[in-house]
Amino acid sequence: MEKTLLIIKPDGIQKRLIGEILRRVEAAGLAIKAMRMLQLDRRTAGRFYAVHKEKPFYHSLVEYMTSGPVVVAALEGINAVSRFRALIGATDPDKAEEGTIRRLFADSIERNVVHGSDSTENGCIETSFFFGTADLEMVESTE
Ligand code: UDP
Ligand code: MG
Repeated sequence: MEKTLLIIKPDGIQKRLIGEILRRVEAAGLAIKAMRMLQLDRRTAGRFYAVHKEKPFYHSLVEYMTSGPVVVAALEGINAVSRFRALIGATDPDKAEEGTIRRLFADSIERNVVHGSDSTENGCIETSFFFGTADLEMVESTE
């Protein structure tokens, strides 16, 4: 079992794609373990994307990610990281495979609708960035 972080970015919310994206997640057999809508502030968005601090697109990325509310969700499943990356497609929608979320709905390499963790390790780090152990370890009710 792996965990991976989904973020529906501000453009995804503006385009009213929350339901569409979550439908695709569930249809792919990934479990939604925890989920919340929130407004990122610049400091939090900057911390989340710290790995990109030196990139030319960093400041614009932080602007974009703080431009409106986002939905964050911890997804779980076997090979969840690679399965979810396959569902969202390449960073640049023009290079993303047909039928992927970014290919279908993204406007540009920046405004690309969704985030998905890129490794098993980052899946753990990023889900823990937004959710506590109690949220992530909640067991599904059997009744
Ligand atoms: N991004 C951008 N310009 C680029 C590359 C990335 O604006 O040339 C943005 C885009 O929103 C992307 C995010 O920065 O999703 C993080 O970049 P990364 O390379 O980690 O892509 P991802 O893992 O999201 O596919
Ligand atoms: Mg990335």
